[in-house]
Amino acid sequence: MMEGMRIDRIRVIQTPLNVVEPLRTSDGIHESRLATLIELMDSDGYIGWGENVAPSGVAYVGESAAESVTAMTSLFAPLLTGREIDVYEMLPETWWGIQGHNFAKHALESAVWDIHAQQEKKSLRHVLGGERLTITPGVVVGIADTIDVTVAEVKNRIAQGYVRVKVKIAPGRDAEVLRAIRIECGDDFILQADANAAYTKNDIAHLATFDEFNLQFIEQPFAAEDLQSHVELAERSATPVCLDESICTIDDLLTAIEMKACTVVNIKPSRVGGIGAAVQMHHILRSHEMDAWVGGMLESGIGRASCLALASLPGFTLTPDLSASRRYFSEDLTEPFELVSGSIVVPDGVGIGVVPLDGVLLSPNTHIQTVFAR
Ligand code: MG
Repeated sequence: MMEGMRIDRIRVIQTPLNVVEPLRTSDGIHESRLATLIELMDSDGYIGWGENVAPSGVAYVGESAAESVTAMTSLFAPLLTGREIDVYEMLPETWWGIQGHNFAKHALESAVWDIHAQQEKKSLRHVLGGERLTITPGVVVGIADTIDVTVAEVKNRIAQGYVRVKVKIAPGRDAEVLRAIRIECGDDFILQADANAAYTKNDIAHLATFDEFNLQFIEQPFAAEDLQSHVELAERSATPVCLDESICTIDDLLTAIEMKACTVVNIKPSRVGGIGAAVQMHHILRSHEMDAWVGGMLESGIGRASCLALASLPGFTLTPDLSASRRYFSEDLTEPFELVSGSIVVPDGVGIGVVPLDGVLLSPNTHIQTVFAR
């Protein structure tokens, strides 16, 4: 018998996170961010944690942190109260009664998953059907001022034990960078390139020459809505095309598969509106024998824990962007995730298996807003 739950308290906790090594992508520099955590308490006293990882700008799929937090507290949080809820029903396209705002929906839904797994006395990994106990993560290297700086960072990451490096590229900062990396760092590691939608259809011929760099894939070269250019590149190039920003709904995924716009998909539960939607997409991709992996959004340990549980599912065939805490933050909000022999352990405790450190909630820099209390 599936247990539902009644939510008695909803709090939003915001605290600054210092990014140790700012990440530069084709859409800007990600230097620091205000972490936004959601804490739900149900009528049995279970506490569930989620994280809203919408970025401060609006370049990534158009949902900024400020508007996402407002949508979460004013539109969606009230839907969790005053009735019994069941996490399996909370799909982004149907349950919430309004389209979009996927980061906001995911933040709340993932906290409900945390409580649900605690009710079941299981880890989230176990509840979702995850099989891997450890994850071999990849690492992302941002755009640098010179090729030498990028090459040095790639070398450094390989020395730290990463087996897969994803390099951010943009027009004018692409082929020369990738060529130098292959010359200086060799072929013994997996190299990927992510353009964050920085190219247009006029660049298809240029991007088709990237086959020489032996990339595992090229990620989202064109605008989210420009599936046709992805189709044309996939036809002209041997390098697999991966979609990220284009896939926000199940329909987006089915359309992309039908058009043959990609052979690989990056699944971020925040972008697709929840863990439930991410699991559905996993099943669809697996049935098509396509490659998939779990992407990251500079999550703190809270968001990272549920992403790791998701990434343990068998259809996520490629290394995820879920690095150790120290790659991102001087101090994480949870016990830090460490890279041990090139792997990160998927949390094994009940629920998401982590909670914020005491100091986070007590810090004078932390702002706690009670959105609902019964
Ligand atoms: Mg990407």
